[in-house]
Amino acid sequence: MELDPSAAESLLDAIPELAPLDEHNRTLAANVHPADWQNPKPSGRYNLVVIGAGTAGLVTAAGAAGLGAKVALIERRLMGGDCLNVGCVPSKALVRAARVAAQVRDAGRFGIRVPAGVEVEFPAVMERMRRLRAGISPNDSAARFRGLGVDVYIGQAAFTGPRTIQVAGQTLDFKYAVIATGARAARPNIDGLAEAGFLTNETVFSLTTLPRRLAVIGAGPIGCELAQTFARFDAQVFLIGNHPRVLPKEDPEAALRVEKAMRRDGVEMSLDCTIRRVELRGKEKVLHLECGQARRELVVDEILVGAGRTPNVEGLNLQAAGVQFSEREGVQVNDRLRTTNKRVFAAGDVCSRYKFTHAADAMARIVIQNALFWGRAKVSGLTIPWCTYTDPEIAHVGLAEHEAKERGIAYRTFTQELNGVDRAILDGEDEGFVKVIATPKGDKILGATIVAAHAGDMISEITLAMVGGLGLSTIARTIHPYPTQAEAIKKIGDAYNRTRLTGFVKWLFGKWLSWTR
Ligand SMILES: Cc1cc2nc3c(=O)[nH]c(=O)nc-3n(C[C@H](O)[C@H](O)[C@H](O)COP(=O)(O)OP(=O)(O)OC[C@H]3O[C@@H](n4cnc5c(N)ncnc54)[C@H](O)[C@@H]3O)c2cc1C
Repeated sequence: MELDPSAAESLLDAIPELAPLDEHNRTLAANVHPADWQNPKPSGRYNLVVIGAGTAGLVTAAGAAGLGAKVALIERRLMGGDCLNVGCVPSKALVRAARVAAQVRDAGRFGIRVPAGVEVEFPAVMERMRRLRAGISPNDSAARFRGLGVDVYIGQAAFTGPRTIQVAGQTLDFKYAVIATGARAARPNIDGLAEAGFLTNETVFSLTTLPRRLAVIGAGPIGCELAQTFARFDAQVFLIGNHPRVLPKEDPEAALRVEKAMRRDGVEMSLDCTIRRVELRGKEKVLHLECGQARRELVVDEILVGAGRTPNVEGLNLQAAGVQFSEREGVQVNDRLRTTNKRVFAAGDVCSRYKFTHAADAMARIVIQNALFWGRAKVSGLTIPWCTYTDPEIAHVGLAEHEAKERGIAYRTFTQELNGVDRAILDGEDEGFVKVIATPKGDKILGATIVAAHAGDMISEITLAMVGGLGLSTIARTIHPYPTQAEAIKKIGDAYNRTRLTGFVKWLFGKWLSWTR
């Protein structure tokens, strides 16, 4: 797409996420924020007006329009939201490149010599990411949604009353509205941080040179994925967390395995630490840490903040619509995703503690049912798995063992280490485990945690079992191809079956077999 220099400059001023404005990011912009876009003229009341064209908004708009509803979709920045532009898509492209670098570095273990060693060409890695992201972007584009029959408006939306929304000088009347405005990186209140300058997920994917030394603030999923990735690109990475271990929401044993792998990749950890202040010394950024009694200084070239998400509620004039919200928790919704205005729903990161693309998608489907068809679908009815794409990955669904303990829920655990699974051994990926939490009696699965190279793919089998009400004995009956890492799950089914072989049953079998000899 051709843009004259002043148009390019003003586009980058408005949306710095599009830097560098090379051919790939121009293609991206042409799809998800077309410079020459003409907003439609509203004619009559909409069945549904959706604010925000991230996953939650796109799925709601496409689904409702497909069912024949008159739908408007409003986006102020980039259609596709965080996931396409500054979240899942670019991060997973980089995670993959980093995994390749790590595998080549590790090739000697497989008897493969790489005499010249590994050289990461960071600009090429980033260009690949931009190319792939641009290639995916037509799916979320303004043109595609117009083709689906959705009225796409580019501009900032704000309520002007309980049944009206304003965008780019026009007022839209709605029967129902959906707030799907997502979340952004939380800005931690650390003395000197703003003055020193820092990256977030909104700017890190625009880098074209690799920072030599990078401090990552926040040891949650985003911090861990990117810390390991940049370490594998050969940056010196310091990960700073205020909890004693990484990924504090995960099973502690699982998080420790990931922590070990990250340390092996060269990530230097400062856990259980507080950042007292940040200071700019020439071009260097100095973080002053307090870790227990110890004080430490970290000197880096860049700081990346991945310390939680803040819901996008400001500027929406939610008061005018009678929608209650808080700056921290976002839009207040009930189990059916209805806000305090019964004609307004919310979905995705703006109202949920499950800040994942697939959760936003599932919530959008609930909103379509509940808003358009008097449905009674509930968020509490969802079984939401998740995965952090470190290497190894860590995936989880349902109840975790530490939660069961805290809540006094009776349970049994079945654990299968990957060093007992042939395929994991052969792949050289045997440092994880599958842990299933089940009811103390019977074979009902309450939850599972998996640490494995492809844990995110493996967790779906357990999620399916939970959703379908299938227990461990069904998993044991299911033939898994040999050799696969998913056999770890089958082995857990077998382990459950062995618990059914009580002393008495075994004695009875023995008697029967000797009698029939
Ligand atoms: C680095 C990173 C990696 C991630 N990786 C994964 C992953 O691997 N897997 C996964 O499941 N999740 C991942 N996530 C989370 C995922 O991106 C989000 O959960 C998902 O994008 C939420 O979708 P959403 O529609 O709720 O919000 P968003 O995608 O944030 O979309 C909201 C949209 O609303 C627009 N908007 C806001 N206010 C207004 C307004 N007033 N008017 C008009 N438009 C407005 C915004 O511009 C935005 O485009 C990742 C997130 C990050 C940051």
